[in-house]
Amino acid sequence: MKESTRMLVPEEEKCIGCRACTSACPEKLITFSEEGNMRSISFPANCGTGCELCELCELCALACPENAISFIFPEGESENVEKQTLDFELVSCQKCGTPFATIRELEKVRTAISEKVPLPPKGDFWVELCPGCRQEVFRERQAEALIRERTV
Ligand code: SF4
Ligand code: SF4
Repeated sequence: MKESTRMLVPEEEKCIGCRACTSACPEKLITFSEEGNMRSISFPANCGTGCELCELCELCALACPENAISFIFPEGESENVEKQTLDFELVSCQKCGTPFATIRELEKVRTAISEKVPLPPKGDFWVELCPGCRQEVFRERQAEALIRERTV
């Protein structure tokens, strides 16, 4: 009887589409693509069939901040599924309009902030700025503060 192949199982309810697993995989078996305002993450279903490292390594699961990756050994022969893909809608930057993060990623950031610091209304506006625009806005604000300081 053929030995059961370990399967990688991403949990759609937990996954926020952050791509940490794509960066962590030494074999580049987890990939992502972006088109318009959608991001897709593709996971190898039959983990271990094309990659010996997969039998031992769990780096993707260790890198996942949401514990969204687990491994199972299906009863009998596993189905020959090559990939399983999760799709995420992206939020566009409020300044430049570039889609940059998933709705779930930003929800997570907002929740983390609100648990740690009380913010004034609209105090978390920067969450919806892409990294480039965020830096630009902070630089502009720092420059404004410096000018105010020097003109008082
Ligand atoms: S177990 Fe290792 S090799 Fe397999 S998909 Fe995850 S990170 Fe990549
Ligand atoms: S690291 Fe976890 S939460 Fe992020 S995309 Fe991969 S499975 Fe999803």
